[in-house]
Amino acid sequence: MMFPKPQRRKKVRQRVRASMPESALQKTCEAYLDVLDLPYIRIPDTMNSIVFGSSYIPVHVKRMISAFTKGVPDLTILHPEGMFLCVELKTESGKQSQAQKAWSKRVAAHYHIIRSFEDFKTLVNTWLTEMR
Ligand SMILES: [Mg+2]
Repeated sequence: MMFPKPQRRKKVRQRVRASMPESALQKTCEAYLDVLDLPYIRIPDTMNSIVFGSSYIPVHVKRMISAFTKGVPDLTILHPEGMFLCVELKTESGKQSQAQKAWSKRVAAHYHIIRSFEDFKTLVNTWLTEMR
């Protein structure tokens, strides 16, 4: 007599909504700023290239730099009128570090947490409109 093979229970895995990795979001946002011809500062990278002028940085030096730039927003967008906009990019579930929270208090109303390119576009365009 043949017994039916017990059905293996399919694992129900909670699907985490795939959001854009932060690095990809940053690249997209920067490309958009380039199109708008808006200058921006990306502090950690800028610091590295100013100090060393190359992509190779010893680990202990990287740590030293990050001590200075801890919490600095991912993008600081500059306006010809002298205004600025700080943008901290996060994935959908990303959380602010303590250092980032401290920074957001320093720059108060100029600081925004952005989790998608759509939100970034809206933020920048609203900001530019208010500036006119
Ligand atoms: Mg970030």
